[in-house]
Amino acid sequence: MSEENVSLYEDWKKLYPRYQTGFFRNLRWGLVWLFMLIYMGLPLLRWQRAGDLPDQAVLIDLPGRKFYLFDLVIWPQEVFLLAILLIVAAVLLFFMTALAGRVFCGYMCFQTVWTDMFLYVEKVFEGNRKQRIKLDTSPWGVNKLLKKTGKHLVWLLISVLTGLFFVFYFADAPTLTREFLDGTAPGPAWVTVLLLTVSTYAMAGFAREQVCIYMCPYSRFQGAMFDEDTLIIAYHPEVGEPRQSNRRIRNQQGSEYGLCIDCNSCVTVCPTGIDIRDGQQYQCITCGACIDACVEVKERANMPIQLIRYTSMREMAGQPTQYMRFRILAYAVIMSILMGGILYYFFTRPPMELSVLRQRQPLYIAMSDGSIQNNYTVRVLNMTRKVENYQLKLAGLDHATVVVAATDEGKEGSGQVLTVGPGEVMPFTVYVRQSPPIAAGPADVRFVLTSSTGDTHTTSTVFARP
Ligand code: SF4
Ligand code: SF4
Repeated sequence: MSEENVSLYEDWKKLYPRYQTGFFRNLRWGLVWLFMLIYMGLPLLRWQRAGDLPDQAVLIDLPGRKFYLFDLVIWPQEVFLLAILLIVAAVLLFFMTALAGRVFCGYMCFQTVWTDMFLYVEKVFEGNRKQRIKLDTSPWGVNKLLKKTGKHLVWLLISVLTGLFFVFYFADAPTLTREFLDGTAPGPAWVTVLLLTVSTYAMAGFAREQVCIYMCPYSRFQGAMFDEDTLIIAYHPEVGEPRQSNRRIRNQQGSEYGLCIDCNSCVTVCPTGIDIRDGQQYQCITCGACIDACVEVKERANMPIQLIRYTSMREMAGQPTQYMRFRILAYAVIMSILMGGILYYFFTRPPMELSVLRQRQPLYIAMSDGSIQNNYTVRVLNMTRKVENYQLKLAGLDHATVVVAATDEGKEGSGQVLTVGPGEVMPFTVYVRQSPPIAAGPADVRFVLTSSTGDTHTTSTVFARP
């Protein structure tokens, strides 16, 4: 047996996907516009809120540690909601994958959406597939320079806008725009825009299909979520094969051949550069471009038979696809429970929070009239959109009174009423005094905060005594 060194390394070859019109292309354009509208529209949307609260509909306020989502305000202590939302997103991805394969990759993934835009810009400046290949292999001249410069400038513009609109989610968009224009925007904002610009330009302009094939972990494990009823895009060899491109041979011996005329249209439109006729491949992002291409070819030849289409392994074996399956239902139930839990939390969460910290120095104060005083720092969080006057009362401690001394920010309190602005956390210093007779040793005491609407929040702590 002869020994031969075979290199397993294969150079990356630049792909020139042909622009293909059709149903799936229109669907993907619709989604591109929808995502852009959401991504770029949300931070520009104004939303009236009371007091000094920001009037941006969606805002991640990192310094204030709050997330504003229209009328909702998410506080740091509610970060567990983010964890639940991430679990919901993961289950939703499993649900979509089990049902319709890599539909997320083909229609919704950032990489696909931005690459689609970049490819379109490339087509506008450099023409379709053949013209782009010709331009790339031709020597540099004025024409090539102008086309390449124009394309890269528009790519850069899209990349910069991508970065800008991303940081608008973290600060008031009009203010930050002014700061960018007069050069006074904060350093982290500049750095974030720069990073997003570079990564968008590199990933959508150059890396493209390599992100889907080599970098994205999802493409590697999504196969494990497929079953025989999962929707896939497949070529039907029983109709298409044996393929024959030569029209003369087909005309002479037509009945011997399948319907695939081996025109390669489905290959030249593929953004990941595969030939779907070779069977299921993990590189396929189910974008549907090959379906559009083959439909156009077949329509031109007046053959209304789809050689490539959405199907399932079960359907290819001659049985109907089972959409209602245990896995699908289980994912749907888990998502419903988690989302229901989040909604229940929002509809029932108390509109305020109270935390109480006993001041340890001094442990207690023995007053001249025989009473014992403890000092506390009380923090009240007003989660509503209006100024609230809360009543603070004590429970569980006999002969005890509570007095609000002053806010730690210098405002005078008035008796047991705690006034807190919308969306504010206000600290108060509070004196609790117990009159004789006083039992020895520490006692439990409860602070009860009542809002103007009658909602209450109770926190227990200790009252120190000699
Ligand atoms: S094989 Fe078809 S569906 Fe899959 S990525 Fe290529 S063009 Fe898209
Ligand atoms: S586009 Fe259709 S006819 Fe042309 S090669 Fe592909 S499967 Fe065959």
